[in-house]
Amino acid sequence: MEATWIELDQKALKQNIRYLQKRLGAKCKFCSVIKGNAYGHGIEQFVPMAEECGIDYFAVFDVYEAQAAAKVKKASSELMIMGMIMPQEMEWVITQQVSFFVFNLERLHLALQTARKLQLKARIHLELETGLNRTGFEEQELPQVIELLKANRRYFSLEGVCTHYAGAESVANYLRIQAQIKKFKELNRNLRREGIKAKYRHTACSAAALNYPETRMDMVRLGIAQYGYWPNNETKMYNLLSHETKFTRNPLRQVISWKSRIMSIKEVAAGKFVSYGDSYLTDKATRIATIPVGYFHGYRRSLSNLGTVLIAGREVRIIGSINMNMMIANLNGMNKVEIGDEVVLVGSQKRKKITIASFSDRSNLVNYELLTRIPAQLKRLVINPK
Ligand SMILES: *Cc1c(COP(=O)(O)O)cnc(C)c1O
Repeated sequence: MEATWIELDQKALKQNIRYLQKRLGAKCKFCSVIKGNAYGHGIEQFVPMAEECGIDYFAVFDVYEAQAAAKVKKASSELMIMGMIMPQEMEWVITQQVSFFVFNLERLHLALQTARKLQLKARIHLELETGLNRTGFEEQELPQVIELLKANRRYFSLEGVCTHYAGAESVANYLRIQAQIKKFKELNRNLRREGIKAKYRHTACSAAALNYPETRMDMVRLGIAQYGYWPNNETKMYNLLSHETKFTRNPLRQVISWKSRIMSIKEVAAGKFVSYGDSYLTDKATRIATIPVGYFHGYRRSLSNLGTVLIAGREVRIIGSINMNMMIANLNGMNKVEIGDEVVLVGSQKRKKITIASFSDRSNLVNYELLTRIPAQLKRLVINPK
C-alpha cells in the first residue's frame, strides 16, 4: 500500500475545459500549458486526460518536458516549447516538428542553421517584447528578423506571433497590460505589412483570457485555470460577478487531490508534549492519528501546528511539527475512526474540502508554487474516467 498518493479527476478536468472553451468561443484555439510537470499534476498522466477532453495543443517550458510529453501524447497532438532549448537539442526539436518560441537573434540563427542542415522547416513563434521585459524581440530588432525570415522562407514556418503579459490577474497592472496589448497589435501590424503572417496570434494566459477578452486572438495558452484554479482571488471575483459570465457558482473544479491513510492511533494523557520538542502540549487526554506523510513527501514543515486534513468527513488539525515522513492529527471528539481510514490532505471528503489555496493562505504561497511543489515521484491515479 502506498503511504500517500495523488488522484486526478477526469470529470473535473472535462468540466473546466468545457467551461473555458465556452468562455473563449469556438474560433479560439485552446493550448494547454503543462510546464512544471503539468503544474504538479504529472505530464505523463495529464496529457492523455486532456486529449480525452479534445485538447490537441500543449505548451511546455523546455526540451526535457517536451520529451516527457512526446512519450505519452497522440501523434496528432502538437507541442510548443516556450522556454529553454540548448543548442545540442535543436536537432531533436526540429526533427520532431515541435514548435518553439524565438525571442532573440541567437536562437533565430541556430534555428536556421539546424533547419538547413536537416532540410526541414523550423516551426517558430516570434515572441515580441511588449513590456514584460523578460524575453522577446525589441522593436528595433524586427527589421533584421524580417529580412532573415524573408530570405529563408523554405526553412521556417511561422506558427505564431506571441507575447506574455506582466500580471493580467491584478487590476494594479491595468495600464501596463493595456499598453502591452496596444504595442502587440502595432508590432503585429508592422510584421503583416512586411508579409510576415503567423498561423496563430497568441498572447493570453488564464488571467488575460478571462479578464481581457481582446487578448484571446487566435489561441490562448491556458495553465492554472484548466486545473481548476483561478489565477488569484481578484480574477475569481471579477469573473464570477461580471456580466460576461453570469455564473453564481464557481464553475472551476480542482482536478488534483492528495490522499493518505491513518497509520496508527493512540491516546496521549493531558499535559504531555506531542512529537519532537515542545511545540504542542496536550491540555487534556488526546487521541492522535499518525499519518505517513511528511516534508519528504512535499508537505511543508511550515504547516506544523497549522495545517488541517480531512478524516471521516471532518476537518482536523495537525498538531506538533511535521516530521520527515509523518504528521499527527488530533482525533478528539471523533469516535469511529480506525487505522487505514482515508486522510485527505488536499481535496474533498463528504461535504468538506481542503483547497490548495486554503493551504496557501496559511503558508503564504500562491497556488502555482504549491501545485508545482507536489513531488513528481508520488503515485498518480486517474479517477472518474469517462
Ligand atoms: C505559464 C505560462 C502561461 C500560462 O499561465 P497561467 O497563468 O497558468 O494560465 C502562458 N504563457 C506563458 C508564456 C507561460 O509561461
